[in-house]
Amino acid sequence: MTAPIRLAIIGMGKIAHDQHLPAIEGSKYFELVAMVDRHGEAEQSIPFFGSAEELAASDLKVDAVAVCTPPQVRHDIAQFALEQGWHVLLEKPPGATLAEVVALRETAKERERTLFTAWHSRYAAGVEPARRWLADRKILRAKITWREDVRVWHPGQDWIWQPGGFGVFDPGINALSIITHILPHPLFVVKSSLSIPANLSAPIAATVSMRNRLDVTVEMDLDFRQEGPQYWDIEVETDAGVLKLSGGGAVLSIDTSEIAEDASELRGEYPSMYRKFGALIRAEVSEVDVAPLRLVADAFLCASFGFVEEYHE
Ligand code: NAP
Repeated sequence: MTAPIRLAIIGMGKIAHDQHLPAIEGSKYFELVAMVDRHGEAEQSIPFFGSAEELAASDLKVDAVAVCTPPQVRHDIAQFALEQGWHVLLEKPPGATLAEVVALRETAKERERTLFTAWHSRYAAGVEPARRWLADRKILRAKITWREDVRVWHPGQDWIWQPGGFGVFDPGINALSIITHILPHPLFVVKSSLSIPANLSAPIAATVSMRNRLDVTVEMDLDFRQEGPQYWDIEVETDAGVLKLSGGGAVLSIDTSEIAEDASELRGEYPSMYRKFGALIRAEVSEVDVAPLRLVADAFLCASFGFVEEYHE
């Protein structure tokens, strides 16, 4: 029998607690051996460290880390981890800039470690069936509507508004991770418009127009000010009907008939993502896909900027 992969989580915030801990608990590949955070204390009798450096200086044997911090500090932690000989899972977005992820890929290759840009939304139940269905269809156009209330979903996450925090692209990049996976040809940004509160450094709303070389257009509408119903929807119009992914990719319908729903924890996004990470480590390969981050970077490059009144969470 193969020994479990000894994993440490770095950045014990909301996503580490809500998704990583239960997914690792149920994983056949991984054993959680340490938690790392700037603040906090040991939980569930798992050894706790204040930094990746402290972890490396300890006697504990670690094979891999999941970097679940905000994106601004992800690169330096991941670079350090690869230098220790640890495999690295990068939460989304994989870095604060595109080029730093490319640099990490080189380190991973040199050190012969697995680097995994873990786009969790790609493992939502409707996404893979959507990709397969679209592969045989003529695609006409697509629309992304990602509108959520930042006060409900991101309370106290000041980093989201700071440089490198992505603002509304923090959830919006999930939509881009799905659309870049289900559409067969690469997209590029044609036009974008970012609304940035005067007292903050990242957009609270954005519209992005994209297309591909076959003139398929994709319009994206992101807004953090949504009250009432929340939307995480992608609609793709084809010659054979309209495919809709809602609930962030969990529910797939074609011409309003529902064909997939993510009801089971076991089939959930994070357990599937960890199965993939384990399989990549065992196969001694990396998966580094920067396509969603490239579109965000280009949306910033192509943007016209509007400034909105001060915003307070
Ligand atoms: P969060 O609740 O603010 O947690 C981030 C954690 O990282 C905090 O415990 C923070 O500690 C810690 N941290 C910051 N800098 C660190 C450092 N240098 N070393 C070690 N720990 C450090 O944020 P989150 O919601 O978990 O999001 C983290 C990442 O996961 C983001 O990239 C986000 O896009 C992604 N994600 C989030 C969700 C979600 O639903 N929340 C879903 C999917 C993916 P302090 O408290 O000391 O700052």
